[in-house]
Amino acid sequence: MPDQSLRATDFLTLPKAELHLHTEAAIRPGTAAELADRSGLPLPPIGQQHPTWPTFSAAYEQCRALIGSLDDLRRVVREVFEHAPAQGIVWTELHVVPHLYGGRLGPVEGLVEAAVDGIDLARRDGGGAGGLVLGVGRNASSAAADEVADLALSWAGRGVVAMGLTGKEDDFPSSRFAASYRRARDSGLGVVPHSGESGNASCVAETLRELQPHRISHGVRAVEDDAVLAELARQQICLDVALTGNLQLCVVPSARDHPLPELIRRGIPVSLGSDAPYLYGVDLLDEYALAHRAFGLPASAMASIAADSLRHARSNVDLLHRHSAAIERWINAACLG
Ligand SMILES: [Zn+2]
Repeated sequence: MPDQSLRATDFLTLPKAELHLHTEAAIRPGTAAELADRSGLPLPPIGQQHPTWPTFSAAYEQCRALIGSLDDLRRVVREVFEHAPAQGIVWTELHVVPHLYGGRLGPVEGLVEAAVDGIDLARRDGGGAGGLVLGVGRNASSAAADEVADLALSWAGRGVVAMGLTGKEDDFPSSRFAASYRRARDSGLGVVPHSGESGNASCVAETLRELQPHRISHGVRAVEDDAVLAELARQQICLDVALTGNLQLCVVPSARDHPLPELIRRGIPVSLGSDAPYLYGVDLLDEYALAHRAFGLPASAMASIAADSLRHARSNVDLLHRHSAAIERWINAACLG
């Protein structure tokens, strides 16, 4: 197969999991327009560069503001899972940080209930499988993280599959949350913090040491330290990479400068995620096509990324085993095409 010949639509029949996706920025563009029209709030920009964290954060908060009720939240989540099969996504883990609503939608328990309900409604209508990642903002207190751990544990097995962690790493190290994540991990929940995007390789090392994660969202700046790369490979920690997001937030100057090929070369599992698809103006098929195009990764390497995403998903089902024949068929078809 000639390199770089696969288009986004060619990745539709490749079974994959989307493990790095945020609820508010996964709103469907038509839904965002409708909610903006109804509320009189501004429509957040699509596909813009965000040279600084504050501009991205402001656009993200515009997305969150559009969700004005639990019904809106239920709808946004339902639509994410409804549209997953149209991208060949067989499992989705959707991040939400309940405390960032500041009580605007009522108690956090109600938020989780509405989001889980959205997943169930989509499933009933043929939508994709998956679960919620309940997150903590790094600027939260350790007591708030403990509350999220309680919440996640009370919903474990009923729609919540993991605990996440988001926000600026430099000012808020992982260590302050270690006890909460240990509790989640010991009870069988996934631990999937963000690290190594705004923070450097030493932040990734600290996250590995303090939180003992199952996966890391981003993690790409681990490439700055050989020892951290070696540790990620040794522990087989999957990095849930967001290529377009890294470009639009200027984590790397161009796609060709992205460390994804080096991470793969070092034997670190990687998955691809659209992260904030509304704001970045992409979906997961676009991310697969970008990785293929930018690095000339052959079909077999792209299939390995999909296999990693299934292997490291927080599902009770062995997703890789279930979909391995379809992955083989996809490789064969891609190589003949
Ligand atoms: Zn993210």
